[in-house]
Amino acid sequence: MLKRLLAGCLSVCFVAVAAAQDYPARTITFVVPFAAGGPTDTVTRLIAQSMTRTLGKTVIVENVGGAGGTIGVEKVATAKPDGYTLLLMHIGISTAPSLYRNLRFDPTKDLEPIGLVTNVPMTVIGNKDFPPKDMKELVAYVKANKDNVTYANAGVGAASHLCGMLLMTAMQTDVTTVPYKGTGPAMTDLIGGQVNFMCDQTTNTTPQIKGGKVKAYAVTTKSRLKTLPDVPTVDESGLKGFEVSVWHGVWAPHGTPKPIIDRLAKALQAALKDPTVVQRFEELGTEPVPQDQATPAALGAHLKSEIAKWAPIIKKAGIYAD
Ligand code: ASP
Repeated sequence: MLKRLLAGCLSVCFVAVAAAQDYPARTITFVVPFAAGGPTDTVTRLIAQSMTRTLGKTVIVENVGGAGGTIGVEKVATAKPDGYTLLLMHIGISTAPSLYRNLRFDPTKDLEPIGLVTNVPMTVIGNKDFPPKDMKELVAYVKANKDNVTYANAGVGAASHLCGMLLMTAMQTDVTTVPYKGTGPAMTDLIGGQVNFMCDQTTNTTPQIKGGKVKAYAVTTKSRLKTLPDVPTVDESGLKGFEVSVWHGVWAPHGTPKPIIDRLAKALQAALKDPTVVQRFEELGTEPVPQDQATPAALGAHLKSEIAKWAPIIKKAGIYAD
């Protein structure tokens, strides 16, 4: 019996090692849990292009939007752990466990961390014809017109949802939220005037702010950004201590062989040094994480600390989804 078990294990282990040695033998799919054309999509496509060059096989992007990114994450959490389905997700993976009562995955158990990617600032922006001219006016306007003001986000659990929740808490008010499958389509509606304002990553908003398509009220970082020097911080505008930015990470399904995880971590580290990626990140108001953060250990530890950080804040805000 023991012999048979051992023989079975040996053949399975042999297959896993052989698969890891041949890896990658075919196209790899990066799941983005939001719509195409948004900030997570933009970051992922840049990384995927670079990893394609390093790994010698095409890395494609599949957009699986909906439910604040949780549908896409679940897809990867339940995918075959063979290194051919990967996830690029952001801070929302650490808020979802507190926001969703019936989440069907545990990000600390069902996924294998590969590494952190970047920490992207956010911006509070509005439609060009939205009356408030600056952040101070926005706060006063939202408070006075809360029943008529609309805020776009990418669903409960998205970064845009988190920023909105923190803003509403700081403003001590509430507005009607309009959920999209990503802030790519939300941006289209914001420019078109179907919604009034939103808070989104600079990786989506910088070109629209610079092109004069939207009004920029504030950046959500402690200091102003080099790329948007005229835009004040939320803190400067009166909501003292306000700060949020959006970290991103790469994961594989739990059980993906370690040699494959290590290969992917190396390819991610190479992407974060790739001059094309570095330059495009810079133009979009962000930068790659240091190389020692683009590792499984760093992302694993970061995810745990972020889940612990957001749980009491979300509990206090009293926001839940099913
Ligand atoms: N920025 C979006 C968010 O709110 C997601 C996206 O469309 O990339 O999380």
